[in-house]
Amino acid sequence: MMAAVTAARAGAAVTIYEHRSEAGRKLLMTGNGKCNLTNTRMGMSYYYCDSEDGKQIVRTVLAQFDEVRSLSFFHEIGLLTYDRDGYVYPQSEQAVTVRDVLLRECLFCGVNFRYDTDVYPLLRREETTGRFVIGKERYDRLILACGGKSERQTGSDGSGYELAKRFGHRILTPLPALVSLYTDEPDWQSMAGVRAKARVRLFVEGRTAGEADGELQMTAQGISGIPVLELSRIAVHAIHEGKRVEAEICFLNGRERVQIEALLQRMLARGHAEEWESPSDMLQTRLTGTVNSKILSFILRRICNDMERLHNGRPDEDRLAAAVAQQLFSCRIPINGHGKLEHAQVTSGGVLFDEVTEKLESRLCEGLFFAGEMLDVDGICGGYNLQWAWSSGYAAGLCAAEK
Ligand SMILES: Cc1cc2nc3c(=O)[nH]c(=O)nc-3n(C[C@H](O)[C@H](O)[C@H](O)COP(=O)(O)OP(=O)(O)OC[C@H]3O[C@@H](n4cnc5c(N)ncnc54)[C@H](O)[C@@H]3O)c2cc1C
Repeated sequence: MMAAVTAARAGAAVTIYEHRSEAGRKLLMTGNGKCNLTNTRMGMSYYYCDSEDGKQIVRTVLAQFDEVRSLSFFHEIGLLTYDRDGYVYPQSEQAVTVRDVLLRECLFCGVNFRYDTDVYPLLRREETTGRFVIGKERYDRLILACGGKSERQTGSDGSGYELAKRFGHRILTPLPALVSLYTDEPDWQSMAGVRAKARVRLFVEGRTAGEADGELQMTAQGISGIPVLELSRIAVHAIHEGKRVEAEICFLNGRERVQIEALLQRMLARGHAEEWESPSDMLQTRLTGTVNSKILSFILRRICNDMERLHNGRPDEDRLAAAVAQQLFSCRIPINGHGKLEHAQVTSGGVLFDEVTEKLESRLCEGLFFAGEMLDVDGICGGYNLQWAWSSGYAAGLCAAEK
């Protein structure tokens, strides 16, 4: 829709083909229904792209129609917005209003819509004229903006990649980005449903590969939440390369370890010697109040298993406090799987940038353009993927019309 409005404003006659019965269905799901449409903190560090050429193109495209111009555009077409710590949302807090103002602007600019039309079986290129044919219609320029391969009920079913291949393009294998991670750590499911403000550090082959903080969600299969989504791309790619991946969780992010250890020692020393006969229950009672009780139980079961193995009986309070603190600050678990591509928020991989110009035109097929998630770039959480959709839609729409 951004590409269509831009091209129409530049004087082109534009038709959008959409194989669902409505446009912009994925937009309705964004930002938990509120749509985080951009971020006032922008930069290449928020984007992943597999080639240096690609990064340069992404940088140029983002600069041409940046977050400031995007917000001016949305304000001009009647969308009020607000910003919370840089994350921009519509004032209405309804993603549907972002979709509706875009739709309204498309109609105002004279864009035609053909709903319930899958382009995949209909699209071909006329050899003699080089024009693009969809059914009985002929077009001088074509912009493919078919999205990635996630949440296919919204329409992005991966057919865009197949269409790009039809014009000779290579596709970097689509993989999920922004997904949950899975662990086979014993007993992990006992924490399912717990949320904690935490810091997560990711290790690949024993080396730090990234870290992020925020609200961590424990699931029956592993971990989720913003910090995990942010690290998931690195984990997914490493898993697919057969590498060993681990996550280290700090459940007490921002707290001083020395002070926590002192507190643990003090609490462990308060009680009667006979309570040591049931160390797990005793520890739970003495340390309750430090973190969520399910997290504490999980950690204590882990420690008690080790305790029996290591000490064959009662360890001293200092060593025990150190062991609990170690788990609270650096609880390491293996990561051996991830959510499916269809449940990811974004798809990594896609149309390779070395076959695309800075105006997002194909180098292999004149008059063919790409926009949005189907290109080989993906952003972290925070409005970066939609900003890419706005910027790339603008670039492709403008150049397609000017040509
Ligand atoms: C749950 C969820 C939450 C998200 N939240 C945010 C957020 O808050 N902020 C953010 O920046 N990003 C968010 N994203 C990511 C963001 O929504 C996408 O990156 C963005 O929508 C991509 O835009 P697009 O136009 O490239 O593709 P899409 O929005 O997927 O649109 C592609 C369109 O092409 C149509 N289409 C596909 N194939 C064909 C075909 N063969 N024929 C005809 N039509 C076809 C589809 O039906 C669809 O309407 C979220 C994603 C999900 C799944």
